[in-house]
Amino acid sequence: MEPLYCSFCRRSNDAVVMMISGHAAHICDKCVEQAILLVDKEKKESHDQLKNFRRMPPKEIKAHLDQYVIGQDEAKKVLSVAVYNHYKRITQPTEEDDVLIEKANIVLVGETGTGKTYLARTLARNILQVPFCIVDATVLTEAGYVGEDVESILTRLLQAANYDVAAAERGIIYIDEIDKIARKGDNPSITRDVSGEGVQQALLKLLEGTIVNVPPQGGRKHPDQKMIQVNTENILFICGGAFGGIEKIIGKRLNTKQLGFTTASTQEERIKENRLLPHIAAPDLKAYGLIPELLGRLPIIGYLNPLDAAALGKILTEPKNALTKQYKKLFEMEGVKLKFTEDTIDYIVQKALDLKLGARGLRSICEAIVMDLMFEIPSQKKTKKVVLDKAYVIEKLNKSKLPILKVA
Ligand code: ADP
Repeated sequence: MEPLYCSFCRRSNDAVVMMISGHAAHICDKCVEQAILLVDKEKKESHDQLKNFRRMPPKEIKAHLDQYVIGQDEAKKVLSVAVYNHYKRITQPTEEDDVLIEKANIVLVGETGTGKTYLARTLARNILQVPFCIVDATVLTEAGYVGEDVESILTRLLQAANYDVAAAERGIIYIDEIDKIARKGDNPSITRDVSGEGVQQALLKLLEGTIVNVPPQGGRKHPDQKMIQVNTENILFICGGAFGGIEKIIGKRLNTKQLGFTTASTQEERIKENRLLPHIAAPDLKAYGLIPELLGRLPIIGYLNPLDAAALGKILTEPKNALTKQYKKLFEMEGVKLKFTEDTIDYIVQKALDLKLGARGLRSICEAIVMDLMFEIPSQKKTKKVVLDKAYVIEKLNKSKLPILKVA
């Protein structure tokens, strides 16, 4: 018989105890042992790295979130605890310990612009310093249909992690607009529901924890592309959605009369309506159209309150990187002192409430107000101070492209 040679060390089969043959290569027992040692060392190092990851207690995580995000105490609490447990889970020794802590992905429910994405982003960037990406559930489709495969989510995370696979495997993925892939109605669909249920099924695997072949540059899988394997077991998924009308479902479940909720139109009434949101539970999301299997992988449910005038006012002025602080800074760099009067702040807040875009409206309003100044000021040397009073603000907003911002 022809002698076999180990493809790694070139020893022949009569110089070793055992030779294992593969498709077009052989490996001897010595090289197998060597390889095992290397793999073990690598595993231990990555575990040690995780152990060094300082576990911030939930209260501390929340205190950090407080610096950036106004209100939403309930959601902050839920997130802080979930993240703390998540890191406890991934730093627990794997072998000896028989109690396996299950992954606890999160779903956040709240109107648009109330801070769902912002909370997740702040957590990932400023507190945990792990790779983070935001994906939109509405662009995902079942494999084989036009749209993005769910694997594309992991491509984004890999890109955010500069292709450091180990870092990506500890990252956070925020899936926005999860409510838009709800199946229509509470009954399993008879016809194929390409954009809804099928995507939920596909997401299920990722959320559970699995090894996925990810095309590094995104796009469709094609046979020659080299894939990167990503294990999603320790990736934390935070899903967010507005779930418009969910209060009615909660109300029905709680058997409460929906006192005038249907006519709720003013901000105060909308907030009253939201008194039901704190009672949100998995059956409500199921009734909304999330499949039970997916809900099983999203055991933690948090809610965000609609932002009232007081909260919007604070958002505009208080957080570390509040909008007014950002504009002041921009003007300061031109040697100009910028001042927002109190009634200006109140006025902007009122307009933001009219826009019904939550805090997201604040930015477009502010941009409309300061645009002309930001255009003029850099070419003028003499202006040293600008006071944005209500009259000026009204004048600028009247010129705005958004009709709703106009006064009359
Ligand atoms: P959504 O709930 O739709 O995900 P976002 O988190 O994207 O809303 O909010 C849009 C922007 O509004 C954020 O980038 C942030 O600047 C601001 N914002 C929203 N909610 C808050 C909040 N509670 N505190 C501070 N800023 C907020």
